Amino acid sequence: MNCIYCGEQLNEENNSKEHVIQNALGGLLESTNICCDKCNNLVEKHIDNEFCKIFSPILTSLPSIKKTNKSALPTCIGQAKYKVDGEIYRVTIKGGKIVDCIDAKREHRKNFTKNEYKDDFEILTYNFDLENESFRNGLTKIAVNYALHNNIPIEQIKKLIKVQQQDKEVKNISFNAPIVPFIPLNSLDAFLELGTTIELYHNLILFSYKNFLVCFIDLFNTFQHYVILSNEWSGKSIHHSYLQLIEKIDRSVPMHKPTDIKDIHILANMYNIEPNYDIENFLKDIKIAIQKKSYEKDMINYLSNRISRRDCSKIIDTQNFKEIVMSTRFYLDEDDVLIKEHYKIFSPLLCESTKSILFYPVCLSKLFDRGYDFKQYTFKKFKRLTSHLNENLSKTANNHNDG
Ligand SMILES: [Zn+2]
Repeated sequence: MNCIYCGEQLNEENNSKEHVIQNALGGLLESTNICCDKCNNLVEKHIDNEFCKIFSPILTSLPSIKKTNKSALPTCIGQAKYKVDGEIYRVTIKGGKIVDCIDAKREHRKNFTKNEYKDDFEILTYNFDLENESFRNGLTKIAVNYALHNNIPIEQIKKLIKVQQQDKEVKNISFNAPIVPFIPLNSLDAFLELGTTIELYHNLILFSYKNFLVCFIDLFNTFQHYVILSNEWSGKSIHHSYLQLIEKIDRSVPMHKPTDIKDIHILANMYNIEPNYDIENFLKDIKIAIQKKSYEKDMINYLSNRISRRDCSKIIDTQNFKEIVMSTRFYLDEDDVLIKEHYKIFSPLLCESTKSILFYPVCLSKLFDRGYDFKQYTFKKFKRLTSHLNENLSKTANNHNDG
């Protein structure tokens, strides 16, 4: 094995552990045999640091992720509702708190006081800057790492990596791959993304279709993109997935008092353990199951549990019953388990004349080029994330007050 950047042979001394998703974003999956320690440091400096800064509003609001020095918290821009006039203003936010109102200043109105910012404003969304080089670099690096982690030969994706060398020393590393933002094209995906309660996770799906090798990346269950790793793929058919929870798992054991067989079965299902009619032992099994709860989840199991046919029929946005039936049939098998060969790879197309399916990355890429509005969906996802983070912050604040 050689370092993918400088080409140096990897041995016990210079081999380094590389996080597939950046450690600073809470990524837990590690991989060796990607790069040497020297290049790893360079990548961190040139790519990871800038990339992770984009997500600082999230990182500073999540207690589970290692925090940087409080005074060093970066500020970010967002939108907030001023409760007094009901209007929406652009604001500067630091550590989950509004510190300035940009629009108020611009219109020569007053500066609000700290208490006014605290009591009279409600943060609606953070603005994440995704239109820059750092974002593309960081995202493509995740896709490349995940492909290598799954033994995709480096020759197949080497084109995406740009290494600048001077006197045999690596000076700069960057990535370049086509990136396509995701929006749901059917009611089941729309429901899963916007209709369920938010749970923060990172999700990766590496898949091939015909000559395409693609990595779907979902960070914080909000930032969703396809990275096209190759359009000359000639290897075997590929499908790998990874899903990891981000927020701290609560390992406290709730009080359960199952009184009948039905209760036991519900609990057994909930904790994914065998039903046991010996209550004392059954409660012990529950305790063990909670202690063993892992951050890493089987994607299909985890997501299937978040949807069911009954829930799907409640989808509010679509009035098109035929389409709902069609997408649930397309994505779920008889046991309501997601079909992995379809999920986030294809979308059914409801059309009277032709019954065709769409290849997600290519179809979205065409829509994007045609100027189709992706912002509306992204805004909804940002809003969902922001309100979840706000809830988190107020919870932490209340805990501090209690103590
Ligand atoms: Zn190297």
